[in-house]
Amino acid sequence: MRLLVTGGAGFIGSNYVHWVLRERPDVEITNYDLLTYAGNLENLRDVEEGPRYRFVKGDICDSALLDEVVPGHDAIVNFAAESHVDRSIDWAAEFVRTNMLGTNALLDAARRHKTPRYLQVSTDETYGSIDVGSFNEEDRLDPSSPYSASKAGGDLLVRSYHRTYDMPVLITRGSNTFGPYQYPEKVIPLFVTNLLEEKTVPLYGDGMNVRDWIHVEDHVSGIHAVLEKGEVGQIYNVAAGNELTNVELTKALCDLLGKPHALITPVADRPGHDRRYSVDTTRLRALGWTPQWGFDDALQATVEWYRENRWWWEPIRARQE
Ligand code: NAD
Repeated sequence: MRLLVTGGAGFIGSNYVHWVLRERPDVEITNYDLLTYAGNLENLRDVEEGPRYRFVKGDICDSALLDEVVPGHDAIVNFAAESHVDRSIDWAAEFVRTNMLGTNALLDAARRHKTPRYLQVSTDETYGSIDVGSFNEEDRLDPSSPYSASKAGGDLLVRSYHRTYDMPVLITRGSNTFGPYQYPEKVIPLFVTNLLEEKTVPLYGDGMNVRDWIHVEDHVSGIHAVLEKGEVGQIYNVAAGNELTNVELTKALCDLLGKPHALITPVADRPGHDRRYSVDTTRLRALGWTPQWGFDDALQATVEWYRENRWWWEPIRARQE
């Protein structure tokens, strides 16, 4: 099988590339990535020389290049996106460009070249906030941030290509993800690296916002289960049911690193900050998927990874400052 992975130099995409090369010996991967600030070929250092992997630098908005690259692939998995909510609040245009126009260009290329399967990697943030209970895949989209609105727009385009052109598409909506190679602007790697440098950690608002955390290996195995076994045209939520308030998460990180809770510094809340995310994963579990990581072990392993891999994050932090 020949798989085209877009955005494979980012956090979840690079973990997906590692997972597929390890778990599916018959799969060859083309990684197509623009290498924005979030794309990093260091994430793939240990696989880049392998015979089943090749890298193409490219933009998912670039239809001409897609026409060269897409033919011959059996499936496309689209991770390429602008992914950071805070950046979308400062400047939404790039989010609309990549997450909507880019998805549109990629869908058109898949349609022109009759790619047998297209999977759109999306987010539970498209549903918006829920105070009690959990969203299922048929619930209404109600995104709050420019990021989640642009992802919702991408999802709707993907669905429309199924209904209009009968394209063989699938959508996954994953929850908050953590693990190795996550750019240190997202909360867990930001807080861990701040704490490792004895800096304070900025906690939004009252810290009572709830997120449902999943280790990246469980997220990518869920995506691949959907690619292999999902029903065309369907949406699948991907989550592990580890709901924590942000303040609980932050205290757990301080404790794992032996740092005082006094380093937690409240800051003004994020505009439009969703209170709670929660999704029902019955549909994905019916495909035989279950998460393999327990939350405490996953958090500890992630903290250890950042402690032991300063070579990866220190140059990124130096560029940020
Ligand atoms: P990331 O920001 O770490 O990586 C995004 C990658 O896409 C980078 O390698 C970047 O270079 C590439 N890219 C950006 N614009 C591109 C373009 N125009 N053309 C080609 N490549 C481009 O993001 P991530 O956290 O790995 O998220 C991957 C996907 O998963 C996104 O679609 C995101 O919406 C979704 N998602 C993320 C989370 C999470 O918690 N991180 C949760 C659910 C869903």
